Amino acid sequence: METIEKANIDWANLGFGYYKTDVRFVANYKDGKWDEGELITDENIVMNECACVLQYAQTCFEGMKAYTTQDNRVVIFRPDMNAKRMYETAQRLEMPPFPQDKFVEAVKKVVKANLKYVPPFGTGASLYIRPYMFGIAPVMGVKPSTEYQFRIFVSPVGPYFKGGVKPITLTVSDFDRAAPNGTGHVKAGLNYAMSLHAIVEAHKNGYAENLYPDAKTRTKVEETGGANFFFVTKDNKVITPKSNSILPSITRRSIMQVAKEYLGLETEEREVYLTELSDFKECGLCGTAAVISPVGKIVDHGKEICFPSGMEKMGEISQKLYDTLTGIQSGRLNAPEGWIVEVK
Ligand SMILES: *Cc1c(COP(=O)(O)O)cnc(C)c1O
Repeated sequence: METIEKANIDWANLGFGYYKTDVRFVANYKDGKWDEGELITDENIVMNECACVLQYAQTCFEGMKAYTTQDNRVVIFRPDMNAKRMYETAQRLEMPPFPQDKFVEAVKKVVKANLKYVPPFGTGASLYIRPYMFGIAPVMGVKPSTEYQFRIFVSPVGPYFKGGVKPITLTVSDFDRAAPNGTGHVKAGLNYAMSLHAIVEAHKNGYAENLYPDAKTRTKVEETGGANFFFVTKDNKVITPKSNSILPSITRRSIMQVAKEYLGLETEEREVYLTELSDFKECGLCGTAAVISPVGKIVDHGKEICFPSGMEKMGEISQKLYDTLTGIQSGRLNAPEGWIVEVK
């Protein structure tokens, strides 16, 4: 096997941030069609001052990771799921969807061209992959752009939790994340722009994240600004909230399947009321960035809900879910069909 000379990076001390790599992918949509796209080295984008993305935030994105496995392969976790989700996001934003097979091919190409930035096995780090698309033609009246750019860059990111995983504390937000018939279920940039004020406020008050209840009744759990919830009942059932305005996390859907098929646990997707929180024994957040972040406490307007799993470590079931999913991603455990896409 050819050996790739790795970039000179202190992998274990990388944060979760942007790190410029060598090559990115760009494709353009013009005159009603996508071009073939190409790999380029320039990380900067030049666009018109009146580009639709700048004026009306017509933009969406995806996020996934590539890992080095125990036996030194480089693999991507379920990129077809991101391709499909971005396709659906684009449709909701009146953008021309990027073909799903070409999406996966382009992701593989970019990772392959940046192999020296894929963190070695055992460092806890990984290569974050960021596909995104935006309206680039100038528009003055509020309407969709006529031209688009689709891009993918990659960035090595460190272990999400340095020095071990510690459970976090959440606060129930007074701001809404997603309207009942809005855009909460798609990965549109606009959802994150309007969450920035809420997260800055939460941090100021000493909380790691916001729990957003459903905007209509404010009685049901939806998600945080960037991760879905799962809960474990006292009899070890894994529950995840059901709602049309939750972003369908690929990590969450994978965890539910792992719970059932690898750990033999009962699972259920259903509405979860804030008043039920104190009945659960474990609570976790899931998403590509951290896989699972354990939640130790939720503060709902002065009322503290403390999960029995505590503030010191991940609960037992959460830990099993985490170990199994990361085991699949690192090649230690057999993956369900199609979950692992090999780049090298
Ligand atoms: C991206 C995202 C998630 C996590 O999705 P994954 O596919 O697991 O990375 C959850 N909630 C929101 C709001 C997100 O934007």
